[in-house]
Amino acid sequence: MSSRRLQQIIHSLATSDGAGVSLRRSLGQSQSARVDPFLMLDEFSSDDPDDYIAGFPSHPHRGFETVTYMLDGHMLHEDHLGNRGDLLPGGAQWMTAGRGIIHSEMPQQESGRMRGFQLWINLPAAEKMKPAAYRDIRPEEIPSVALPGGGEARVIAGSVTVDAGAVSGPVQGLSTEPLYIDVRLPAGGHLAQAVAAGHSAFVYAYEGSLTIGPADDRRELAAQDAGVLSAGDRVEISAADGPARFLLLAARPLGEPVVQHGPFVMNSRAEIEQAIDDYRHNRLV
Ligand code: FE
Repeated sequence: MSSRRLQQIIHSLATSDGAGVSLRRSLGQSQSARVDPFLMLDEFSSDDPDDYIAGFPSHPHRGFETVTYMLDGHMLHEDHLGNRGDLLPGGAQWMTAGRGIIHSEMPQQESGRMRGFQLWINLPAAEKMKPAAYRDIRPEEIPSVALPGGGEARVIAGSVTVDAGAVSGPVQGLSTEPLYIDVRLPAGGHLAQAVAAGHSAFVYAYEGSLTIGPADDRRELAAQDAGVLSAGDRVEISAADGPARFLLLAARPLGEPVVQHGPFVMNSRAEIEQAIDDYRHNRLV
């Protein structure tokens, strides 16, 4: 048994994407800022409609999965398969682009706060060309677990074990075996969570600061920073100074070459050229 340490900090950068949505990008801001199989993590958070109202009009993806998790606000997903997902506060959508999807993600509000995350998870070579799939996860499908060290965890994927037993999230059975939990700690709160040995893991602090690691090597992670964890089979995280909220993510690394061109993520340059050509000639999906 070994406790994971905070190994590397990736400061998020303010940027914009889609038709002009302001966001903070931690993973994915450069090719070296990835945590295999995680390719990208964006946080969008604003009370100003100018920062989000233009949304993400119709665009393609191939070769990976996108996971959108909303804290506040209301977003509508529509895709070429006819899926229509109304994303509400506390809800998520898990979209497997596979060989191709063309979709839009548009805010459904003209005022108020829009806040949430989009995570990109790579697919193994053997699954990059599988048919696209889409799952809308309603807020009530995501279980909330009271933590023994105070606070609560919402379990989107993987499981959290407390004295009463394991609580599993709605997303299971993927080859990367992701753990995706959203944790809220009160001042002085503490989380001790199992993270499968051999899996990559990182923490994204989005409110308040954290201390991460075993008693002999506690390091601080500030809000809007991603902290990459070292090897180990568990992690200990405390609220450093007042209450804190963060995401804890882990998954089985793929160890395959990653070649990205915008919304296409494949294993080789030739596969990227194929994706661009397929999209141009309406063969992507
Ligand atoms: Fe998209």
